[in-house]
Amino acid sequence: MGELQLTTEIDKNSGFCFGVISAITKAENTLESNNNLYCLGEIVHNDEEIKRLEQKGLTIITKTELETISNKTVLFRAHGEPPSSYEVAHRNNNTIIDASCPIILKLQQIVKKSYNNKENIYIFGKRNHPEIIAINGQIDNKAFVFERLEELDLKKIPPKITLYSQTTQSLEKFRIIVKTLIEAGIVVDVKDTICRQVSNREPNLIEFCKRFNKIIFIAGTNSSNGKVLYNICKKINEDTHYVSSPEQIQKEWFNRKDKVGICGGTSTPMWLMKKTEETILSF
Ligand code: SF4
Repeated sequence: MGELQLTTEIDKNSGFCFGVISAITKAENTLESNNNLYCLGEIVHNDEEIKRLEQKGLTIITKTELETISNKTVLFRAHGEPPSSYEVAHRNNNTIIDASCPIILKLQQIVKKSYNNKENIYIFGKRNHPEIIAINGQIDNKAFVFERLEELDLKKIPPKITLYSQTTQSLEKFRIIVKTLIEAGIVVDVKDTICRQVSNREPNLIEFCKRFNKIIFIAGTNSSNGKVLYNICKKINEDTHYVSSPEQIQKEWFNRKDKVGICGGTSTPMWLMKKTEETILSF
């Protein structure tokens, strides 16, 4: 124990969701026999985990770079991909390892069905998020994607819409949007497509955060799920710090004998939370 005599606990409910675990397992299994695996976009929004997999031979490529490779093996990550990515990969004779999360594939299927039924599709999510690009790509980008309620002009919305959500959005915000639309007289076919791997963490995390006087939340800088969960922690415990690596943790944040809770997003590996704990205990 370090001079500050801190005590720590790691949230057992934090860490990778099964979609991400399955994508990483697919990558690791492939890398055992083929140390030349390409992944379109970051396999997980966690810099440390990416470094670990890169050391095993994984190369992260962009969509533009995908156009330039041929006869290689390319992994499509849990977020899913629009049809154009499959076309480009196949055109150049690449082998695809499809690690799209089954929940996201199902969401893509039902959105396609809505599109074929000529429904007015609205998606609560981030326009530039890969999951949304993949979903909207299934339907010629015809969905109206919005990030905030304020972006909706209630007077211009069609009288009947079908409302979806990005899987990692906040359930609370989604419910407020539904309520507002219904109160405005719009008929809403609500497709609650928020992933419970994420939303079930909220009540657990709230209870966890109440038990400590400091919270260290660790997740990658690009993790949208990380940001949602961090905001929940911050609401409960003002003394919550967001870091993406243990090196960013500062000794000055702590007082003697602080009880420190360590938690993370669905893209945070358990080994990283353990490393975080070691760093804190050394203070
Ligand atoms: S958060 Fe849910 S939908 Fe997204 S990858 Fe994980 S399991 Fe799949």
